[in-house]
Amino acid sequence: MEKLPTRNPRSGAVDYQMPVFAPRAVAAEAASLREGQIAWLAAGVDGRVQAMTAWAQAMRKRRSEMLEALAADTGRWSEGEIEFEATLGAVARWCQQAPELLAAGPDKATALPHIRVAQGRVPYALVGVISPWNFPLLLSLIDALPALLAGCAVMVKPSEVTPRFVPVLNAALAEVPLLREALRFVTGPGSTGEALIDQVDLVCFTGSVSTGRRVAEQAARRFIPAQLELGGKDAALVFADADLDLAAKALAWGSMVNAGQSCMSLERCYVERTVFDRFAALLAEHVAGLQLNWPDIRAGAIGPIIAAPQAALIRRHLEDAYAKGARALTGGQVVEHEGGLWCQPTVLVDATHDMQIVRDETFAPILPLIPFDSEAEAVQLANDSAYGLSGAVFTCDEARAMRVARQMKAGAVSINDASLTALIHEGGKQSFGLSGLGGTRMGAKSIERFYRLQAYLINDGRPSPWWFAI
Ligand code: NAD
Repeated sequence: MEKLPTRNPRSGAVDYQMPVFAPRAVAAEAASLREGQIAWLAAGVDGRVQAMTAWAQAMRKRRSEMLEALAADTGRWSEGEIEFEATLGAVARWCQQAPELLAAGPDKATALPHIRVAQGRVPYALVGVISPWNFPLLLSLIDALPALLAGCAVMVKPSEVTPRFVPVLNAALAEVPLLREALRFVTGPGSTGEALIDQVDLVCFTGSVSTGRRVAEQAARRFIPAQLELGGKDAALVFADADLDLAAKALAWGSMVNAGQSCMSLERCYVERTVFDRFAALLAEHVAGLQLNWPDIRAGAIGPIIAAPQAALIRRHLEDAYAKGARALTGGQVVEHEGGLWCQPTVLVDATHDMQIVRDETFAPILPLIPFDSEAEAVQLANDSAYGLSGAVFTCDEARAMRVARQMKAGAVSINDASLTALIHEGGKQSFGLSGLGGTRMGAKSIERFYRLQAYLINDGRPSPWWFAI
């Protein structure tokens, strides 16, 4: 099998060779998964829950191996621990709720006493997942878990930037033969993703808007559904009556965690003018306390830029912002340490809506602050974006928080907290604008994306009134 050299984000060195699944290998995996899906479906939801639970235990046994692999992939440590626990937590949550969600309800009566309806669900036989590099483990499985429990086989194409976790995951899978035949990882670049779309019955894509558009076009040509979870430029609104210190701490986390490399990272912050300077100083103070995780991966909160090309984009956004008058209260640059690239945690003021750093996704630990004078202006500024993934509102007036949140064009709004969708997956949410397309990936309803409803309309043996009178 051909190999693709993989860069280490801490050293910049190529220190891993990733196997590349060519289209023929992807087709072979797909054929095998379609066979495996028959036994997987036949096992029933209880059998699937048992297999997934056994797999989670096999993963737990490999915790330290998995954390090492994720650290090599991403150059950070504590986020890998959170990611690992969140993934196993998601397995447990889905296993707990799937039997009830998939239980056949009683037949339904209709307007005619002799006809009733039974509801069936037919899972898509083979679901494809294409995932990005920012949370390699969690995002390769977040859609796969409900799909598997619904009875689908799943083929995952993880990001070529972060493939080192896959052998550890496969070793855990090998312990559960039933699941091993229903879940496979195919590594490779974008062309492996294209080959996957040619084989599957439904595709779940998480990644950039530009790739998402290509995925949707290819899926449309094949007439298969594409669920798209794309980029964002999430806005936070801080009103004067908010607990400003709490808001500053929440936003320091929500904009800087994982070095800003999260789709639901807060990348713009609007602050009521009367408290702007006070809030900016508080936030800058908290953010200035965050250290890079160099040279010690386990110390410091800010990991390296995981994908090298991202560094050039961040530098472009910063240069454009400085050229248009923005100032850094803290941080402000991309720095290099022995081949790895880090973006300093940064708070910007004098930012405006004509700056790339306010309009386009930066995917970096940078938060530009902009003042507003009224609630209406705050909402208007938040909604002045091509994206609509999530957002945040800080105010002690809950009625105002809800009024503002309802007007925001965003799939989820955290209130007096930041980026809650990273860890709280119970609420259904759908994207606005360029941030995605399709059903909710969160909440119990998200399992409904993975089966078609089938209705069985049952006549108990009497003629229906609209039949020909013969
Ligand atoms: P990307 O679009 O470059 O790549 C994502 C995946 O698509 C990779 O596995 C890649 O190999 C694959 N791919 C590339 N070309 C393809 C093609 N033509 N056909 C099929 N697959 C192809 O995204 P990225 O840089 O890995 O990830 C960062 C982006 O992901 C950011 O924009 C971020 O906001 C977004 N993201 C969104 C969410 C969400 O839930 N909305 C979550 C995490 C990340």
